[in-house]
Amino acid sequence: MSKECLFCGGPGGLSKEHVVPLWLLEFLDLPADDEIFHGVVESATGLLAAPPRIHSSFTFVDGRVCETDCNNGWMARLENAARPILISLIQDRGVETLSAGDAAVLGKWAAKTAYLHTWGGLGERPVQLDHLRALAGDSGVPVEGVTLFAAKSTHKKPTAYVGGGSWPQLGTRQTEADGQPPRSAYKVGLQFGPLYLLVAFWPNRASSLLRATGVHVQVFPQTPPTGEWDPLNSPRPSLLEFGEHPADKLKAFVNCLAVLNPSR
Ligand SMILES: [Zn+2]
Repeated sequence: MSKECLFCGGPGGLSKEHVVPLWLLEFLDLPADDEIFHGVVESATGLLAAPPRIHSSFTFVDGRVCETDCNNGWMARLENAARPILISLIQDRGVETLSAGDAAVLGKWAAKTAYLHTWGGLGERPVQLDHLRALAGDSGVPVEGVTLFAAKSTHKKPTAYVGGGSWPQLGTRQTEADGQPPRSAYKVGLQFGPLYLLVAFWPNRASSLLRATGVHVQVFPQTPPTGEWDPLNSPRPSLLEFGEHPADKLKAFVNCLAVLNPSR
């Protein structure tokens, strides 16, 4: 059975790409039988749609990445470039201290890693292929509008993943006919130790993403960050609440990113 490589479109299916790179799992000191906490968040309610699925982090792979051009090519070079940045952030470096070069590496790495999670066959809608194709090659960059937010916080498990997520909208609501957020919008949250990452995209370029006050730091692109809002002083202060589940804090981090739409 031949499959196209998700990133370059060439013949794929040869490599077993780890969704979370092996070096990172080892750095986080995960035992071979450890689990990744994964949840899909309902956009309507902001709640986890089903009990989070739990996967062994070491076997959580996708076979649709080609060996030569992607896995052992630009992705390996991206991994080498991202590794010292990620390690310093997981250790004691603040997320607001990244140079422009490091931010660009982390932005591409986070998008690649987030997209692979959504293509892992875990139930939520995979990120659109053209966003994966844009990353391919050493000169590939995230599609315009893709934004990476980060934070440092306490955590319960070495790694967690949240796909989906609610989209608080300010201004005129933008929805599909079924009332859901635009199909091509996405949020993917990843947590590695104390490092929280959120890759977000909203299709309407006239809208802007709104960081939650005191929560999100915009890492990529290194443009002047767009505005912020305070979920605690909004009709939905519960967005920032979290319970005892290991992925709950990541869920809150994902849910409280808002979007400001133009008013009619
Ligand atoms: Zn490829």
